[in-house]
Amino acid sequence: MSTITTSEEQRVVEQVPKQLYIAGQWRDGSKGTISVEDPATGETLTEVADASSEDAMAALAAAVEAGPAWAKHPPRERGEILRRAFEEIVERTDELALLMTLEMGKPIKESKAEIAYGAEFLRWFSEQAVRIDGRYAVAPNGQGRLLTMKQPVGPCLLISPWNFPLAMGTRKIGPAIAAGCTVVVKPAQQTPLSMLMLAKILEEAGLPGGVLNLITASSAGESTGPIIDDPRLRKLSFTGSTEVGRKLMEQASGNLLRLSMELGGNAPFIVFEDADVDEAVRGAVIAKMRNIGEACTAANRFHVAKPVADEFAEKLADAMGKMKIGRGTEDGVEVGPLIDENQRRKVSELVDDAVGHGAHTLLGGHARDGAGYFYEPTVLTGIPDEAGLLKEEIFGPVAPVKAFDEEEEAIAAANDTEFGLVAYVYTRDIKRALRVVEGLETGMVGLNQGMVSNPAAPFGGIKQSGFGREGGPEGIEEYLETKYVAMNL
Ligand code: NAP
Repeated sequence: MSTITTSEEQRVVEQVPKQLYIAGQWRDGSKGTISVEDPATGETLTEVADASSEDAMAALAAAVEAGPAWAKHPPRERGEILRRAFEEIVERTDELALLMTLEMGKPIKESKAEIAYGAEFLRWFSEQAVRIDGRYAVAPNGQGRLLTMKQPVGPCLLISPWNFPLAMGTRKIGPAIAAGCTVVVKPAQQTPLSMLMLAKILEEAGLPGGVLNLITASSAGESTGPIIDDPRLRKLSFTGSTEVGRKLMEQASGNLLRLSMELGGNAPFIVFEDADVDEAVRGAVIAKMRNIGEACTAANRFHVAKPVADEFAEKLADAMGKMKIGRGTEDGVEVGPLIDENQRRKVSELVDDAVGHGAHTLLGGHARDGAGYFYEPTVLTGIPDEAGLLKEEIFGPVAPVKAFDEEEEAIAAANDTEFGLVAYVYTRDIKRALRVVEGLETGMVGLNQGMVSNPAAPFGGIKQSGFGREGGPEGIEEYLETKYVAMNL
């Protein structure tokens, strides 16, 4: 693969619709435009529409209007539209991956992996659309009959973050559309381009106007606030920080909205002395470096059994030290820039804080000079208990390695966080594996593997990582209500 040329970059950016998509029409935002930046250069890529609260309410009105017909639309046809969109995305992987890399910074190879992952949610839910069923039971007294049926929740607001610009959208849009719900989608303002392309692809795949409405906005609160306060909205699905999730939950209480909250993480990665250390290092590189460490599932802290802690840290530093840093479009690059200066400053501060408290830097430890928001892959050892990065989500390429003595100590350390999204465990002892998995307070566990994301599996957290599940057979349930009918015979 050769380095991508500037003209190809211009072409993929130019073909993105830059307007709001409301009731099947592309239209300008009432507040002008917002710029989208390339985090590898700090330069503006393009401008997209900036929605006002009136634009946002027009999007909700369109979703409400389209709701009843879409709920009755044959499930097979709802699924076929998703299936066509899936095929189109796969067909256009190269250009969509380039677009994603330009707006978000991740290396092309990782953008391609996200395109495959994101598209798969559309295929998975195209198959689930025709598997929405109910129940028929004889009442225990033998006289009545009990029927249940599943019906779409109604108009949904879907808010997504910048770190997975396509997949965080498709894992909400896929099940919502399959279930017969209509939606207003608001992507993160830093990465709206992938979602705008998705809206265009769904339009071309035959999705009727008003079923999916998309707004981009410079003020998330101003644009989505009135939608959340409107009683016609029935569900809010949010992926983003725990801080914003808490606020939205409070706001959503006014109308008692159905909620899905996919929030922050602080994943422990535990390596026992009986583990295959080389395997654990391979898994650690994936769990840490996928998405430049900017993933809710990113391993945030490595708890390693004392007899193998030094070996693990050295091998991890060796592997991370070999990763090429650069603009994601360049050949062989494995570490792109962070999303912006704020994120890079936060990573720097967490590293400085750990080192200030006595941690040892085995690799990296610095921001890279020059354009873009690059931070060196970093491995720290001898982490003191007071280090902030044990408690906070790092969201960058920094791996703190902390040694432990006993299994119970490792479980307690892993659970010593307000978050509970995912944990990773490396051991070859089957009994230990089950003991530890049962003891971990997380929604997901990677057992001898560094990645859990799979559209066929229920993704989601507990504690302050939120609630609700995306993907798997569970994913569509988030967009369905159960109606029970008591029938007298
Ligand atoms: P964020 O600041 O919470 O933003 C997420 C989305 O919410 C963006 O679209 C943002 O819009 C919007 N938003 C911000 N304030 C809002 C408000 N007051 N009302 C309505 N919407 C609002 O999070 P982020 O920095 O983009 O994403 C990183 C976080 O997402 C991390 O904590 C990560 O762990 C989490 N995450 C979780 C999962 C999961 O499945 N559990 C997956 C991926 C990421 P603007 O862009 O305009 O600010």
